[in-house]
Amino acid sequence: MTPLILPNKWIEKCQGENGMGPLSKQFLPDDQESNAEGYYDPIGDHNHQVLDGLIHRYQNRVLFMPTKVCPVACRYCFRKHEIENEKDQQLFSPDMHSILHYLKKHDEINELIFSGGDPFSLSDEKLQDYLKQFKTIPHLKWIRFHTRYPSMIPNRFRERLLNILTETNNYFSGVSIVLHINHWDEWDQEVQDCMDKISQTGCNLLSQTVLLKGVNDDVDSLTTLFSNLAFHIIRPYYLHHPDLIRGGKHFYLSLDTGRKLMHQLRDKLPGWMIPQYIIDIPGGHGKVPATNSDSQLFQGYLIDRTGKTHPYP
Ligand SMILES: *Cc1c(COP(=O)(O)O)cnc(C)c1O
Ligand code: SF4
Repeated sequence: MTPLILPNKWIEKCQGENGMGPLSKQFLPDDQESNAEGYYDPIGDHNHQVLDGLIHRYQNRVLFMPTKVCPVACRYCFRKHEIENEKDQQLFSPDMHSILHYLKKHDEINELIFSGGDPFSLSDEKLQDYLKQFKTIPHLKWIRFHTRYPSMIPNRFRERLLNILTETNNYFSGVSIVLHINHWDEWDQEVQDCMDKISQTGCNLLSQTVLLKGVNDDVDSLTTLFSNLAFHIIRPYYLHHPDLIRGGKHFYLSLDTGRKLMHQLRDKLPGWMIPQYIIDIPGGHGKVPATNSDSQLFQGYLIDRTGKTHPYP
């Protein structure tokens, strides 16, 4: 089983909950993880891995994965079986010569997304070094970071890193920081101070949330989360339907459940606070809207918030 990895403060936060609350369920090991249902690579990343550390599934953008280390081991993680926090595994480093060659050759790529692991597990020096190399690719316009550090180890964002972000945001057309957050209980004053500092770098702040059974699969939790994020100038970007990861079955829920929740959110929140509900089709077929992914062919009816169908020309 994936070992427990959680910053000390968070162990206290989990202990403050009654039983398996939204924090404990996300981070504390559970016997149900031995359930063998699900896939080791639920979204088929390997089918689009063009080089070690580089995934190219969509024309204009690539995922760059320079580390397999995270500040936490989320029990539902879709890369659960790839994350490596053992000391000897942390030395993994991609072949930058090949990666730069690939990026230069593919001028349709205009966005590079630092993923992982968590990219802020890298030292400031290492990050700066990668960014310097990416600046040599003239068609690269956008840089993005997917991270859980601001809530897990907010202290990671010290002056030097903030300066790197400011400088990178000024150099490229823009940098986006996508905060992984699933429940508003994850937020506290330290997280807020950290996000305020990141906001001052000028980077675009977005959030991504995984819909998880027993964590946030109710309209009140999601309403609280998205409205508070919007209040803190973080735009709710994606709500992910949970991936069918092996060992994460206790987090799965049906598309019907997710769709109903999305309909209910329409009553509670303005459209601009509602993230896109998406699902990654198993096997590497990519993300599609989960709200109506059945077919691109219009079926002749619209479904309202109560589930009733209405014919439409
Ligand atoms: C999710 C994902 C992206 C980012 O997609 P956006 O829709 O732009 O957020 C890029 N590459 C891969 C391989 C992905 O899985
Ligand atoms: S932070 Fe992201 S990549 Fe790391 S364990 Fe959690 S879900 Fe997985």
